[in-house]
Amino acid sequence: MRIRKVGVIGAGTMGAAIAALVASAGLPVVLLDIAGDAERNGPVKQGLDRALKARPAAFMDPDRVALIETGNIEDDLAKLKTCDWVIEAVVEQLAPKQSLFARLDGLLDPNVIITSNTSGIPIHSLVEGRSDTFRRNFLGTHFFNPPRYLHLLELIPTGDTDRNVLGAIEAFGRDVLGKGTVHARDVPGFIANRLGVYGMIHAIRLMQDLDLTIDEVDALTGPLIGRPRSAIFRTADLTGIDVLLHVAAGLGQATGEDFDVPDWVRQLAAENRLGEKTGAGFYRRDGGQILTLSLETLAYEPRGDLRLPEIAAISRMPLAERLAAVLSLPGKYGEFMRRLFARTTHYTLERAVEIAYDIADVDRALEWGFGWEIGPFKQIDAIGHDVVGSAFNDEHLDTPRLLNDAGDEPFYRQVDSTREQRAFAGGYQSVRSTPGMLSLKELRTSGKVLKDSSDATLFDVGDGVALLEFHSKLNTLGDGSMRMIGDGIEWVERHDYSGLVIGNEDPQAFSAGANIALMLASAQEGAWGELDNNIRSFQRGVASLRFAPFPVVVAAAGLALGGGAEIVMHADRVQAGAELYVGLVEAGVGLIPAGGGTKELLFRFTSELAPYIEADPFEAVRRAFTLIAMAQTSTSALDARRLGFVRRQDLISMNRDLLLADAKRAVLGLAPGYVAPVPAQIQVLGNEALGNLRYAVWSMREAGQITDHEVMIGNELAFVLCGGEVPPHLASEQDVLNLEREAFLRLLGTRKTQERMAHMLKTGKPLRN
Ligand code: NAD
Repeated sequence: MRIRKVGVIGAGTMGAAIAALVASAGLPVVLLDIAGDAERNGPVKQGLDRALKARPAAFMDPDRVALIETGNIEDDLAKLKTCDWVIEAVVEQLAPKQSLFARLDGLLDPNVIITSNTSGIPIHSLVEGRSDTFRRNFLGTHFFNPPRYLHLLELIPTGDTDRNVLGAIEAFGRDVLGKGTVHARDVPGFIANRLGVYGMIHAIRLMQDLDLTIDEVDALTGPLIGRPRSAIFRTADLTGIDVLLHVAAGLGQATGEDFDVPDWVRQLAAENRLGEKTGAGFYRRDGGQILTLSLETLAYEPRGDLRLPEIAAISRMPLAERLAAVLSLPGKYGEFMRRLFARTTHYTLERAVEIAYDIADVDRALEWGFGWEIGPFKQIDAIGHDVVGSAFNDEHLDTPRLLNDAGDEPFYRQVDSTREQRAFAGGYQSVRSTPGMLSLKELRTSGKVLKDSSDATLFDVGDGVALLEFHSKLNTLGDGSMRMIGDGIEWVERHDYSGLVIGNEDPQAFSAGANIALMLASAQEGAWGELDNNIRSFQRGVASLRFAPFPVVVAAAGLALGGGAEIVMHADRVQAGAELYVGLVEAGVGLIPAGGGTKELLFRFTSELAPYIEADPFEAVRRAFTLIAMAQTSTSALDARRLGFVRRQDLISMNRDLLLADAKRAVLGLAPGYVAPVPAQIQVLGNEALGNLRYAVWSMREAGQITDHEVMIGNELAFVLCGGEVPPHLASEQDVLNLEREAFLRLLGTRKTQERMAHMLKTGKPLRN
C-alpha cells in the first residue's frame, strides 16, 4: 500500500494545514471544500489562502502550494479517485461527515484508505451503514493543531479496521509526514485531549480555590515541571479558549465526568476574548508588554513575578529532583502542585486502560501532543511510587489498580538493550520503538561511548560508523568541541571505519554557534594571539570535515547558527531535519563568519554559476553578501535549500526521531569507493566588485537604513568576498580563510562589536549600535 497522492476534504484550520504538510513533504494533494455560491471554489481558495498566510507558517516552502489541486465536493469528488489516502477534516458534526462517507463509499476504489480527523465524534459511528470494504479501509487519524509543528498523530482503528491499513497509515505518518504516532482506543478525546484537557481544567479550578494568579500558575506549570514555556494559560490562549470550552463540553457530555469550566472562563469566550486569535484571552499583548487577566476584575494588569527563592533554586535541578521538590514546596504553591499532581495522575492511572493499548502510548501522547518532557508514567517512576501513593492518600483518593499492581516495580525498566514497560494485564512487555531509530541515550547505557568530554561525545553507532555529539548548553562550540572533531576523525581513520555522523537528539538546537562569552572575555583581556590561534584551529576543524578521507554527514535539526552553520556547510552531505533554522548570524553581534562560512558561500555560489558562460560572477558575491549581512536564517530545511545553506544533493528527514539513523544510512551509502574532494580555487573579483559593494553599503547608510558600525561590518565582509583590495586573481580556499580571520579580529577589536556581544549575552537579542 504505497501512498503517492493524498485527498483532503475540508479546507478549514486543520484541512488546509494538513494539505500544506503533505505538500511540504513533496506529495500531490487534492483539497476540497463545499461549493461556494458566487464562486464554486471560493471556500477552498479562502482556506488555502489562510494556510499560506498562517503564522507560524503552515508550509515549509510556500512554493509547494503548486502541489495542491483545489476543488469542491459538488463538482470534483471524483478527483479523489486518483488518491491513495483521503482524510476528512470538515466541520465537527456527525451528519455532514456521514453523508460524505456515504458518497465516497462506492465512488472510491476498494484499496483507497479513508480516515477522519475528528476530535470528538466516535470513529465507529462515522461508518455506520458503510460497506465492509469501506469499514476495513477506515480509521481515525487525529492531527494536532498546528499539524506542521505538533509531533503527535493519534491513530484510532475500529474493530473493523484492516491491520495492513493501520500499518500503512502509521508508516506514512511517521516516515513521510514525520509524525510521532500512537494508537488510541475509540473513546471520547482519545488519549491526549482526554488527559491534557482534564489537567488544564483542574489547574484553572484549583487556581481559583487556592487564590493563585494566572502568572503564578504558569510559572509553576511550565519548564519548572518539564512542560512547555506556554504552561497552562498561554497554551489555552494559543489553542483558543473557544476550542478549549468546546472540547471540555464534549468530553463532559460524552463521559459524564467532571469537565466543568468556571463561569468566568465562559464569560471571556462570550466577550470574544478567545486568546491569541482575537488579541486577548488569559493574556493581552499591549505594545511590547504582556498583560495578565486579573480574576477579580477580569481586566488586564502588568505581569506579576513569582518571587520565591526556593523556585529559583529548584529550576536548576534535574527534572526528577525538580518534580519531587516542587511537590514539597511550602505554602499554597506546594499545595497547588500536590493537589494538581494527585488529581491528574490519579485520573491518568484510572483511565489509561480504557483509552490506550499501553502506557508508553499514554506517555508519548502527552509528550508529543502537549510538549511534556516526560509523560505521566515516567513521572510516577521518577517521583517514586510510594510518594505518589501518599499524595493520593492526602487527597483522600484510593490507590488505582495499575499502581497497586505495580507496587514498587517501575512502570519502565531496561533489560539489556530492550526497553520494557509494565503491561496493563501485569508483567512486562517491550516498548514499541520507532523502527530504525538510533537512540544516543540507549547507546550510552549500553556502553557504546568511544570518547567523552564535558563538551562532546564520540559514539560507536554500529556498522563501522562513529557519531559525534556536541552537548554543551545549546551545543555551543569551543576548544573542547574542536578537539573532539580531531579525535573523531582520527578514530575513524585509525579503526578503518566507514565514516562519521555529527548530530544530536536535542529538540532545540544542532548548535547555536561559537561560544561568544569566551571570545568576548579574551578580547577584553587583549589576548589577540590566543584568539588568532583559536580561529585558526576552528577553521582547521571545520575544513577537516570536508577533506577527511571518509564521508562525514552532518545531521542537523533546529538551530544551526554561526559556527553551527559552518559545520553544516562543510559536510559531505547534510541530513537536514525538516525544521532546520540555519543561518550565518555573526553580523548581529558585529562580526563576520570566520570559521569558513564566508569562504564557503563565496566558493559555493561562484562555482554554481560557473557552467553559465554569460553569468555575471558578481551575482555570486552579491548573494553571499546579502545572506551574511542580513543574517538571514532559514525557516525550514526546504528554505535552507532555497537560500543555499543546504545543496540539492543534501537530504531531508521529515521525522526528527529518525534523523540520526537516516544520517548513518547516508554515510554507509557514500562510503564505498569514497574519494575526498580536493581544495578548490576560484577567480576573486577584487577592486571593481569591492567598489560596487562599498557603494551599496554607503547608499544604505545615506538612506538611514544602517548605522556607522554596520557600514564597517559591511565593508569588512565585502573585502573578504572580493578577495581584498587587489586586481582580480585566482584565490585558494586558504587565501579567503586568511582574509576572514583578519577581518574577524579587526571587528572583534572594536568597542561597538564588543557592546553587541555583551548585549546578546545579557538579553539574547541583537543590538543595533
Ligand atoms: P473549520 O471550521 O476550521 O473548517 C471546517 C471546513 O470544512 C470549513 O472550511 C468548511 O467550509 C468545510 N466543510 C464543512 N462541511 C463540509 C462538507 N460537507 N464538505 C466539505 N467541506 C465542508 O474546522 P477545523 O478546526 O479545521 O476542524 C476540522 C476537523 O478537524 C473537525 O472534525 C475537528 O474536530 C478536527 N480537529 C480540529 C482541531 C483544531 O484545533 N481546530 C484539532 C484536531 C482536530
